[in-house]
Amino acid sequence: MTGKTHIMAGITATTVVAAISGEYEAEWLIAAGAVGGLIPDICHSGSKIGRRFPLVSKLVNTIFGHRTFTHSLLFLALMALILSKAVSNPSITMGILIGMATHLLLDAATKQGIKLLYPSKITVRFPVTTKTGGKAENILLLIMTGITLYFANDIVGLF
Ligand SMILES: [Zn+2]
Repeated sequence: MTGKTHIMAGITATTVVAAISGEYEAEWLIAAGAVGGLIPDICHSGSKIGRRFPLVSKLVNTIFGHRTFTHSLLFLALMALILSKAVSNPSITMGILIGMATHLLLDAATKQGIKLLYPSKITVRFPVTTKTGGKAENILLLIMTGITLYFANDIVGLF
């Protein structure tokens, strides 16, 4: 999936959570969701986040490879632990974690799949997969935009 789709997925999921739960500060939750949607691709130097942090990206890629550790439940749990200690705003912590979870879901819908159970080498992917940047991804992007607008309206009352 492209960075754009990952950002949108993070935004969509957190917008829905913000609207339904009413428990979080929506703007923090959603902004963090957009960032969280990109974080797992730190393992890939050509990604949006990898280009921003080239050194970290190179390091992670050299040690773990692409779509392994940073696309696993282990990494998600580790981030939950670090964020809960380092970040005082629970909306930011939750947003980042939700964004990251959507990233794993989306990448599991591609042919390459992800190493969700890293350090196990098992590849996890959905039975139906899509090509990155393909037509299905564009349709998904449209659907997510629609869902986001619908729930964002619940939060701010646009229309
Ligand atoms: Zn990824």
